[in-house]
Amino acid sequence: MAMVNTEATIVSQYTTVVGALDQMFQEMDLRSNGSLWRWKNSPFEGVGSCKYISKSPSESGLVGPARNTLIELRQQRVKDFPGSSSVSSCPYHRENHGCVLGNLKSPLCISHIDGYDPMAGYDELRDRFGIKSNHLTSDISWILRSILESNDPTQNSQFISEACNGISQMTQHIKRFPILHTDKPTQVAISKI
Ligand code: SF4
Repeated sequence: MAMVNTEATIVSQYTTVVGALDQMFQEMDLRSNGSLWRWKNSPFEGVGSCKYISKSPSESGLVGPARNTLIELRQQRVKDFPGSSSVSSCPYHRENHGCVLGNLKSPLCISHIDGYDPMAGYDELRDRFGIKSNHLTSDISWILRSILESNDPTQNSQFISEACNGISQMTQHIKRFPILHTDKPTQVAISKI
């Protein structure tokens, strides 16, 4: 797929940051309990918060000049994973795998935290890792929106570097905590763009 320069730069920056976030959340997942797909005997068993998402909501937050390109890349990637899901209406979900998108997840999906219920005063990441979920989600949303809406993404190099450093430090912090689970869905290979 031929991409103009601004789009290509935004796609590169977006996938870099979302890929780092995806790895961080995988480390969190091993060390926390709140993932809805883990809940036994519930409507979420095996699927989690993707259960009620279809294609259009799964694209929430993909805005700016690279929106259509990112959506096309998502549609290309899912072709590497034949089959379907009977437990989610999202086309990017696969049973026993979860989401196939990795570094192409939308802002809505990559910033969603299951173990956070402000009405109940429940915030597993705060209690377990000292990371406030509401701050994390708002920071992620702001970073990704800044990347996607940039008119001149070549100016973002330092910003991207600082964001990746911050995510890396948070990932290292999380990895110091004990692993609680080994029963996560099989991880799927992330193909290169
Ligand atoms: S895109 Fe991925 S994370 Fe988002 S709802 Fe679909 S399967 Fe779930």
